[in-house]
Amino acid sequence: MTSILGIGECMIELSSASDDLWRQRFSGDVFNALWYARAYSRGETDIAFHTAVGTDQMSDQMLTFIQSGGIRCDDTPRIANRRPGLYTIHLNGAERSFTYWRDTSAAQMMVRRPGPLWANVAGADVVYFSGISLAILPPEDLEILLDGLVQHKKQGGILAFDPNIRPHLWSDRDRMLRVISRAASLCDLVLPSFDDETSAFGDATPEDSAKRYADLGANHVVVKNGPSDTIHLESGCMTAFPVTPVDKIIDTTAAGDSFNGAYIASLLRGLPTDKAIQSAQQCAGKVIRQKGAIISFAELDAL
Ligand code: ADP
Repeated sequence: MTSILGIGECMIELSSASDDLWRQRFSGDVFNALWYARAYSRGETDIAFHTAVGTDQMSDQMLTFIQSGGIRCDDTPRIANRRPGLYTIHLNGAERSFTYWRDTSAAQMMVRRPGPLWANVAGADVVYFSGISLAILPPEDLEILLDGLVQHKKQGGILAFDPNIRPHLWSDRDRMLRVISRAASLCDLVLPSFDDETSAFGDATPEDSAKRYADLGANHVVVKNGPSDTIHLESGCMTAFPVTPVDKIIDTTAAGDSFNGAYIASLLRGLPTDKAIQSAQQCAGKVIRQKGAIISFAELDAL
């Protein structure tokens, strides 16, 4: 059986249901991708998540929810004096705005319990992480994580990375650009979204983003660009894959994350590139027709 390990943060999500009523769920970029990887792996891939949580009741509920999706997290470090991060989503049409409370979240400590982390990494065919996973770490922990991942790659592991550039999570913009570029340069597969790349790096086109990451050393780059073509660049060969239009878009939260999860799972199932991209676009197309980041496997099947 193939295996994917995601490394990152899962948070408590509150989305406005009406006036003063909030709907509570759990979400976080890497976790979202794993959820959809699970859906698109058809049970052929072991999916695990490495994070850290607190010892509080919300942390217990979060782990129960993660496991309800068939995602392994049984050895998640519990940090006694920390709690999960939390964020709210306000929707203006289908566009979302977020407010975060995550400055002291338990997930920032996820590299401080090296036993479970490296045991999980050693067992994974693909290790998936993001610019957000890196942004929340203390700088010395970030170095430990990247060094360990490089060792894993030397032993044949595949590293997959979504830059997911969130300037508000970084205190220093130059450092953000350096860290994102360095992490991408270590990875086999880089999955950026053009919106983020053009604002952070000033790329004129998604093709430019793909080339920039390939020049840094990534052999395989897939640039998502909302309803516009998905750009695929592998071993020097660039292809544009049109996106099928989607009606009745409700909430674009987790479009990119779901794309990544479905894409990696489809490749691990042995699908050729064009079919894996189609699966990923189809998955993201379903996710944006529902509210929130996570939709149930039953809803996903029904759409
Ligand atoms: P992110 O959520 O990271 O900003 P994108 O907005 O680029 O990512 O979207 C990721 C994927 O979701 C796209 O490649 C596409 O397959 C799908 N998608 C996003 N917006 C639309 C849309 N308006 N119509 C159809 N598909 C979309």
